[in-house]
Amino acid sequence: MPWPTYPAIYRTAPAHEEGGTRLFSMDTLEFLGDEKGRIEAITVTEGFRDESKAFHPTTEAPDVIPAQLALIALGFLGPERGRLITDLGVELDQHGNVARDGNFMSSVEGAFVAGDMGRGQSLIVWAIAEGRAAAAGVDRYLTRRDVLPCPIGPGDRPIT
Ligand SMILES: Cc1cc2nc3c(=O)[nH]c(=O)nc-3n(C[C@H](O)[C@H](O)[C@H](O)COP(=O)(O)OP(=O)(O)OC[C@H]3O[C@@H](n4cnc5c(N)ncnc54)[C@H](O)[C@@H]3O)c2cc1C
Repeated sequence: MPWPTYPAIYRTAPAHEEGGTRLFSMDTLEFLGDEKGRIEAITVTEGFRDESKAFHPTTEAPDVIPAQLALIALGFLGPERGRLITDLGVELDQHGNVARDGNFMSSVEGAFVAGDMGRGQSLIVWAIAEGRAAAAGVDRYLTRRDVLPCPIGPGDRPIT
């Protein structure tokens, strides 16, 4: 399997060996709580994700799992919607990242975006390449020259 692709293998870490049940191909539908808002259970359903990552349930009746605590690991949810984004008024893409054109420029003339803010959650190597490519975009915009190296385009993705 060529780098950087990675085989999907069943790993068991020491933490898994300590106990618990691992469920795969599940999606959470609902948290159920008592009258004071304390969690009592979650409802889950089995299914699969298609190529666009949309989840399709394969069971009619969801399972109810008793729970006293739910830890939510959502990962990267897009750049913070702070003043930088709202004051500038840049447009976001369908993933909630800052939308940009082929030259790394946002929807606001002269405002460029590089790294996780435009690409979404990624890796340091991509952030470095994005920084260099966006710098080339800024230089092109300011000087109308095309002399700086542009290692990647804004839509480039790793080999999968
Ligand atoms: C927990 C964790 C572990 C990771 N582990 C790895 C790993 O092992 N290997 C790997 O390759 N990648 C890893 N990554 C991903 C990697 O850190 C990011 O992809 C990378 O740092 C993105 O670089 P960036 O320059 O786009 O953004 P960042 O590194 O997030 O830099 C953005 C900077 O902008 C600053 N900023 C934000 N708002 C403003 C503002 N309004 N004004 C001024 N400054 C502002 C922030 O303080 C920050 O310094 C990890 C990420 C996380 C969260």
